[in-house]
Amino acid sequence: MRETKAVTLLGMGAMGKALALAAIEKGWRTTVWNRSPERLRGLTERGAQVCGTLEEAVSSNDLVVICLHNYASVAETVASVSANAIRGKQIVNLTTHTPDEAQALHEWALDLGITYVQGAILATPAMIGKSDTNIIYCGSKQLFDAQIGLFECWSTAIFATEDPRSVPYLDLALQSTMYSLFTGFLHGAAMVQAAGMKAADFANLAHPFMCAMSRSFHNRAMVVDTGEFSKSSKMLAFTGTILDIIVDGCIALNVDPQPMTEIRSRIDAQVEQGYGDEGFDRLIKTYQTRP
Ligand code: NAP
Repeated sequence: MRETKAVTLLGMGAMGKALALAAIEKGWRTTVWNRSPERLRGLTERGAQVCGTLEEAVSSNDLVVICLHNYASVAETVASVSANAIRGKQIVNLTTHTPDEAQALHEWALDLGITYVQGAILATPAMIGKSDTNIIYCGSKQLFDAQIGLFECWSTAIFATEDPRSVPYLDLALQSTMYSLFTGFLHGAAMVQAAGMKAADFANLAHPFMCAMSRSFHNRAMVVDTGEFSKSSKMLAFTGTILDIIVDGCIALNVDPQPMTEIRSRIDAQVEQGYGDEGFDRLIKTYQTRP
């Protein structure tokens, strides 16, 4: 397996196009295909080899990158390529998948002698090509090592494990963290607006505060990995008192206190079980539903 600096990209949505243009910029001969031809407009002028048919696009190069909407679109697309055209290829799939979907595609690839890597893009299209952007990969380490030159056109490339389910798990966990952060910001902004202030002024304070707070992830991780919750800095019973004050503040501002009452009830459950003098990180137990 060797790097030839030639690649086919399937899917010219916002992300696929950003990946294609970054590869072209770094001198890769880049063949592109998209189900709807409108999205291919202007790409020849920008240096891409535009293919009218999927079969031709897949046949053009040994290395094929897929970046489509979801599992159904990937399954439908690969199923419509002839086995002769796709057998033995190197496929890098950057579509967001559940672990089960990634496993199913990995098994499909094995059956056809395809070397397969599943990736997850921890970025927006505008961040592609920047070194502080991360894309994580799993599956064939041999393919990852052989094509590192392409991956580094897009971002810092991180290999997780050979287990095809590992990157989807990480990706979904990171997105869960991100959406909690965003909804947390919106809840705070609702409080500020209700108090007659601008969300923009709130953002100026929230951004550095959240950056500083997120530095505690490493210590929290150590606590949850060791299970030594009594080492946490803030006791659960203490945090409960602070949350009560926030809830009162929300009610006074006519803002739904539910995001805070939800945390409060998780604390109550742990306090009732006798863990009131353990740390806040003990709440991880309330998210783990396996008996
Ligand atoms: P997008 O702009 O909505 O593009 C979706 C692409 O999928 C289009 O090329 C579309 O083709 C194609 N597609 C949809 N259904 C299809 C089907 N049945 N058969 C063939 N092609 C089909 O999405 P995107 O932003 O590029 O995202 C692509 C992937 O990257 C997703 O899995 C997304 O989760 C992931 N991702 C995106 C971002 C982001 O910020 N955008 C960030 C991280 C990860 P048509 O033009 O024919 O509809």
